[in-house]
Amino acid sequence: MPRRKRERIALTDEEGGMALLQIPGYDHQKPQEVPLEAIRDLMGDCRLCPLGETKTNLVFGVGNPNARVMFVGEGPGKNEDLQGEPFVGAAGQKLNGILAQAGLTRDEVYIANVIKCRPPSNRNPRPEEIQACSPFLREQIRSVWPDVIVCLGNFAAQFVLRTEQGITKLRGRVHTTGHFAVIPTFHPAATIYHSEWLPLLEEDMRMLGQWLRDNPPGPGKA
Ligand code: URA
Repeated sequence: MPRRKRERIALTDEEGGMALLQIPGYDHQKPQEVPLEAIRDLMGDCRLCPLGETKTNLVFGVGNPNARVMFVGEGPGKNEDLQGEPFVGAAGQKLNGILAQAGLTRDEVYIANVIKCRPPSNRNPRPEEIQACSPFLREQIRSVWPDVIVCLGNFAAQFVLRTEQGITKLRGRVHTTGHFAVIPTFHPAATIYHSEWLPLLEEDMRMLGQWLRDNPPGPGKA
């Protein structure tokens, strides 16, 4: 993957406080217009923040590019960094386990993270790292244009819902932002240490399943 210098990733004016990406060959960037590969190509071997220097693999995202449901996590852990795929470690095992509660399989959904490179020692992402990386997530969301975004944990929920509220306050109900229904819930990894949160995460997944049954698929969705 060629190393991409900062000046080659063009950002336009900010929309709602977030820089927009200019994606070569795509003037209007309508929903579902830019393929995920074009966004991945634009990232190259990104060095927009220092995590690009310390990572093993950039973890872009995986799954159905036309999914009704997009899961957004925080950032890659050790296993994800080594394998280049989100949610393949212990948190991934938990995620795979709870998808069935919503009547979903991993192949049906799209999975990405707020930041694409692993923070050393799995520390929390820093605001400047989120700011540098989040335009790519924003474009991934526009590309997949899911009906529902499931936010796994505080970082994803606060980014998608543009709130400072914590996940315990946000979870348990369906929010709306623009086109998207948003279901914030606990991060699967958090339920490893807080087993009392697992039934709540499962409850949120059943709520997701109910929402999918109650709402017809959006345009272009099966
Ligand atoms: N935790 C996350 O938030 N994302 C991953 O991909 C793995 C663990």
